[in-house]
Amino acid sequence: TGPPPVIRYNLNNVTITTNPIENQEHVLILTPMSRFYQPYWDNLLRLNYPHELITLGFILPKTKEGNAATAALQQQIQKTQKRGPEKDRFKSIIILRQDFDPAIISQDEKERHKMSNQKARRAVMAKARNSLLFTTLGPATSWVLWLDADIVESPVTLIQDLAKHNKDIIVPNCFQRYYDDKKKKMDERPYDYNSWQDSDIAMQMASKMGPDDILLEGYPEMATYRTLMAHLATDGGDKNLAIPLDGVGGTALLVKADVHRDGAMFPPFAFYHLIETEGFAKMAKRLGWQPYGLPNYKVYHYNE
Ligand code: GDP
Ligand code: MN
Repeated sequence: TGPPPVIRYNLNNVTITTNPIENQEHVLILTPMSRFYQPYWDNLLRLNYPHELITLGFILPKTKEGNAATAALQQQIQKTQKRGPEKDRFKSIIILRQDFDPAIISQDEKERHKMSNQKARRAVMAKARNSLLFTTLGPATSWVLWLDADIVESPVTLIQDLAKHNKDIIVPNCFQRYYDDKKKKMDERPYDYNSWQDSDIAMQMASKMGPDDILLEGYPEMATYRTLMAHLATDGGDKNLAIPLDGVGGTALLVKADVHRDGAMFPPFAFYHLIETEGFAKMAKRLGWQPYGLPNYKVYHYNE
């Protein structure tokens, strides 16, 4: 007997390729979750990347709402991992409870998106993402898919479709379905404005800011004139079109695990006047990794 053997991992053998299924590459799907939405779980289950290669990681706040979400999540996990069909079962699942306070902001969509609430809210989100990442990234992880808890619809081939581009960081376009009262039918509109290409104006604005100030996207009172990927989708446009980005959103985001291993994380403070996922894109770029976006490849956000 004696002590257990040392487990050696050779990171050179962990491939990160455009054929992740063929090469049996492990994917870590990470979701910060304040509310549990059944359509999120249903969509996750439909992803046809082999589930035995997928580890799921969640972090939930220790609030009343967070407790309710944790209970609902655990119920679905039991169902899938114990009673459901074998092919639906994931390799492993990790649930973390946040050990720091959530931003004291209502989860109501209007309140959440008030400009004055953004810095504190995004800082908390960044810390949640970092805790989740640093406690779950394993030696066998090839890819990290960030997937928000309110992404309720995506192609079933999401992971393969993103991985095949061989980009360090790649983000689909996040839209939202809604009922158009005028047209009397369902339509869709852009949701996530955090995926963008920088502008001279935004850079000038940043140069005049205090060290702790951040630029925010999607607020008319702070017009940045950045090129927003949200506005680049075209009817029938090429789903494979990939454009370089300077900022990314995290609603759905595929990252080569080596980018995170290199040290790229989500700054919970002003980093080049950027925070959270946008700050992550900047940090990754400083480390030599290039983010890309797919304007015509869509995922859909829940509509409250
Ligand atoms: P929005 O879509 O930009 O308004 O951002 P959300 O409020 O949807 O937050 C993004 C993701 O983080 C979602 O998956 C939320 O469920 C989750 N989330 C929001 N606030 C918190 C929090 O305080 N703690 C944790 N762990 N997750 C959160
Ligand atoms: Mn959301």
